[in-house]
Amino acid sequence: MTLAETAACTICHRDLRDDEPAYACRICVDLIDQHLRALAGPTGLYARLSAQLAPGAGNGGPAVSGSRTAPVPLRLEVLNLMTAGGPVLGPLETWVRDWETQGRADMCEAGTLQQRVDHAVGTLRFNLTWAAGRHLAFDEFGREVHAMWRACDRQITGERPARIVPVTCPCGTVLRITLDTAGARCPGCGEQYGHSELMELPLAERRIAA
Ligand SMILES: [Zn+2]
Ligand SMILES: [Zn+2]
Repeated sequence: MTLAETAACTICHRDLRDDEPAYACRICVDLIDQHLRALAGPTGLYARLSAQLAPGAGNGGPAVSGSRTAPVPLRLEVLNLMTAGGPVLGPLETWVRDWETQGRADMCEAGTLQQRVDHAVGTLRFNLTWAAGRHLAFDEFGREVHAMWRACDRQITGERPARIVPVTCPCGTVLRITLDTAGARCPGCGEQYGHSELMELPLAERRIAA
């Protein structure tokens, strides 16, 4: 693949400025950085998962007290997020190993799972700008970071999956997006939209019954 003169962000499809990294715009890089930062540390999302382990914790389902059946001892979805091979630490360390082969990260499996998360986040954040400019799979990295951030955030806030919002492209095509959608291409006219441009499109009008 050659970089065309009008290279676009591989994550949100916005046209890149000359001073931006080769694979992603500043906004996407900043967002990935924010998500990584939010996961780590003693008050980060990963650390706060343990408080969500008990059934009925936080905004989870109804409390099970009084139920005749024995309660499930732990919320398995939360537990899964916390494990070494789970959807947070697993992919984080996979990327650390990957970047390490290019001399851009240090793998460290010492310490608690929390320390490993913190270490992985630290080493990945340190070379994030390098990756945005040089790593061919930066978009995949960005999507995976977003997915792990979303999965943890949802457990802690009890938020339901993002609602789909129909918006209308000037060509008349209705695009079905969520508030999370990083970017989209209109199937009607081929226009590329970044996240903020999508958010500025008018909501599709509800069809009024005649
Ligand atoms: Zn972007
Ligand atoms: Zn269109």
